[in-house]
Formats: sequence, C-alpha cells, structure tokens
Amino acid sequence: SSFRYRPEILEGVADHIDCDLKEYEDWFTLEPSQLKEITDHFIKELERGLTVEGGNIPMNITWVMSYPTGHEQGRILTIDMGGTNLRVCDIHLSSTKRDSDQIQKKYELPKPIKAGTADELWDWVADRVQDFLNDHDSGGQKDRQLPLAFTFSFPVDQKSISSGVLQHWTKSFNVSGAEGEDIVAQLEAAINRKKVPVKIVALINDTTGTLIASNYGDPHVKVGCVFSTGCNAAYMEECRLIPKLKHLNLPEDAQVIINTEYGAFDNDSVILPLTPWDHQIDRESLRPGTQRFEKMVAGLYVGEMLRLIMVTLHEENKLFKGQDITRLRSENALDATFLSIAELDISEDLEDMRYEFESSLSLSPVLIELKVCRYLIGLIATRAARLYACGIAAICKKKGIKKCHVGVDGSVFNKYSGFKQRAAQGLRDIFDWPSHELDLIVLNPSEDGSSLGAALAASLVLNRETKEHP
Ligand code: BGC
Repeated sequence: SSFRYRPEILEGVADHIDCDLKEYEDWFTLEPSQLKEITDHFIKELERGLTVEGGNIPMNITWVMSYPTGHEQGRILTIDMGGTNLRVCDIHLSSTKRDSDQIQKKYELPKPIKAGTADELWDWVADRVQDFLNDHDSGGQKDRQLPLAFTFSFPVDQKSISSGVLQHWTKSFNVSGAEGEDIVAQLEAAINRKKVPVKIVALINDTTGTLIASNYGDPHVKVGCVFSTGCNAAYMEECRLIPKLKHLNLPEDAQVIINTEYGAFDNDSVILPLTPWDHQIDRESLRPGTQRFEKMVAGLYVGEMLRLIMVTLHEENKLFKGQDITRLRSENALDATFLSIAELDISEDLEDMRYEFESSLSLSPVLIELKVCRYLIGLIATRAARLYACGIAAICKKKGIKKCHVGVDGSVFNKYSGFKQRAAQGLRDIFDWPSHELDLIVLNPSEDGSSLGAALAASLVLNRETKEHP
C-alpha cells in the first residue's frame, strides 16, 4: 500500500548485497494503526502540559492573545534567531490591507558563538542589528528608538510578551550563562552597551510567528509549524482550558497562543518506536533525554541517522567494503540537504548522488550501494514526515478542529522534495481520508513567515499599550 516506501530502486539489489534490508524497513515503517496510537498519546501529553504539574511537553504560554486584525501598521525591526542563521528584517505593515514590505538580511551564526558565553552571543547579535541599520537604515534620525521584535526559536517561560526565561537550549546550541535567565534582559543589556537604537517590545517563538503570519494571510490557518533544524508547533487555546492559568481569573472568552514545544513529546520513551540509532543519537547528543521526538524528526538529525546506519552497515562489511570511511565517521558529516539531493536524483546511474558521496564523504560507492543508501534515505525521511503528521493531527484532534489550514515554515518542509506529500499521507492515514482531494487538514508552506509574525505581534503589543496608556 501507498504508505510503505518501496521504490523499484531495490529491484535486483538483494542478489548483490548481503544485507537484510527488510529489517530496516520493519524498524522505520509506521503503519496507520501506529500513527493513530501515537497521535492519541500525543493528545494526552498536550493536555498534561497545560496542567499545573506539567509533563514532557512544555506548552508555553506566549501572551499573544489574539490573531492580527489586518489593520496593523507601522515600522518594526525584527530579528529571528533560528538554528542556523540570524535574520534581521525591517518590516513596514500597512493598515489598509493585509500587506507588508520587508528588507531582510541573513547572517550565519558562527559555530564558536553557538558554543560560547551568553555575553558573546548577545554582543554578536547586537552588532548584527547595528550592521543592518548601518546598511539599510536611511532614516537618519539618531534620537529615535525603533521597536524590535525578537523571534527566538527555543523554549522560554514567559511571564509577559516582552520577557522570557530560557528553559534549555535545543538543537546544537550550547551557550553558557543563558539557561534559566531572562534572555530579553540579556540582549537588552548588550544593545545598551553598544548603544544600538532599538527597544525590544516582543519576544516570540518561530512557530508563534508562523501561526500569526499565516493566519494574517489566510484566516483558515489554525496551526503554525516549523520543520527545520528543529521541529515544533503553536496553536490558539482557550484560557479556560488551561489549568495552569486558572489563578489569573482571565475573562471567560480569553484565548492565548500556546507554543507547544512538542519536540519534547515522549521524552520518557513510552510510545515512540525507537531504533538502536535513535538511542545512539540521543545518547551522543548535547542533552540526552530531551527532545526525543525532535531527534527522530527534525532536519538536524535525519542526516545523522543516515550516517550512523551507513557506519553500522560498513562495520558489518555490507557497505563501502575496503573504503576509507574516516569522513563518514565524523559527527554531523551529513545534513538534510544531502538526503534531499539523493532523493531528487532520478537518473539511471544516480550521478548526483554519487557526486555528493564523493564531495561530502570522499567515498566512491558502486551503483548497488547508492541504491541501498537511497532506499534507507527514503525510510528515514518517510518516518520523519509521518511522525511529524502525528503532532499536527494531535493538536487538531484535541481542539476538535475538523478542517483547517496549517502554516508550515522551515527549510526542510519547504525544500526537501516529497516531505510535504509524505506528511500529508500521514495525516490521511490518521484521519482515514480516502484521497488527497478529500484532505481536510491541509499543509501550506509559509516561507519566512516568522519575522512578519513577530512584527505583527509587536504591533499588537504596541497597540495594546497605547490603549492602556493613552
Ligand atoms: C525549539 C523550538 C523551535 C523549533 C523549530 C526546537 O528545537 O525548541 O522552540 O520552535 O526548534 O525551530
């Protein structure tokens, strides 16, 4: 049936390779019944995260309490710190139509900065904001302070929209002196030290930004997701259904966007079908026992998964016989792009794929080996996409949403060929929709939406402040 990844590519391969690929297929294939079970457990964990006691999934309160109206206006500077880049944007919202203009610049986060101290990180960020203003700000009014909205793609505990204590780093970040601290205060201190003319008005997660921005363009969007180096989703919840907000006596109809941080789903390993390589990735990660779901799904880990399996097969003398696999042994030698290029190669002799093996790994595989790897890539990526679908399905089921659009941002979703189709098939299997024409929950790409979302959130805050203090 369609959910199994059985490309013709493997035809005839079994005769040439002494390797039982069926074993891998069994490990990585998720049947519809398993997806349904995982989704049901996911719903329980989402609910548990909203209680005072909490659970694996943090379900962070974002303090964004409405969707944009479409009348937001003004100029807002945004910075977006994801897993790989810092993106600075200058956004002009126009009040008359759901529209915006933006200038943006991307700066790659240097490796040493991702593993240094908090002061070094925030100084670097403040310097990039200043660089950006030097290059793009022709306004020239020295005494004004531009409002700055900060998209920060990590879990934070927020007491207000303009502050947030970092719970812990995820992905490959390991900056000392930031966990447990208010990162807005830290960045603000760097901004003041360097006299950058900006004032932080809002701190939001990238999924919150994606939800706000996608909903701004299409009000049918009810879930915002990011599928990139990491993975996560946000949705709007009714405050009366959030036990951990009960003590605030909020109005009966109040609502708030929840940044689920569902990469932490099943951290206690109750339901996810973990393979030996999932255990290895977790064990060798910066923070074992955290982000277990993310480690099976996200872009940072799918390349690592392939690498570890190839090393295993080499050690069992089944792949790359007699070749020097030194480069393959180095951690994170492969990223999601490697997998995507391999899957896009439909040529008879897999030339593009061979080129990638030579340039990234100094390996010269024979065609049969390429086919085996290509098959493994399909298994790994399909599992990732199908698991990803469980998180989205769980949010919709929990909310009783039968039909909606989901805004998805992130390089893996938007650039990895076939990922979207596989995730959509996962949803179909969970909800028993018979064909893609009848899909009720539709995944729509939302590229670079989180910066616009941050600007909209900032504008909601500024507007609220003007109303409260006229
Ligand atoms: C972070 C989330 C983020 C996601 C996608 C995860 O590692 O914890 O905050 O939304 O990556 O960027």
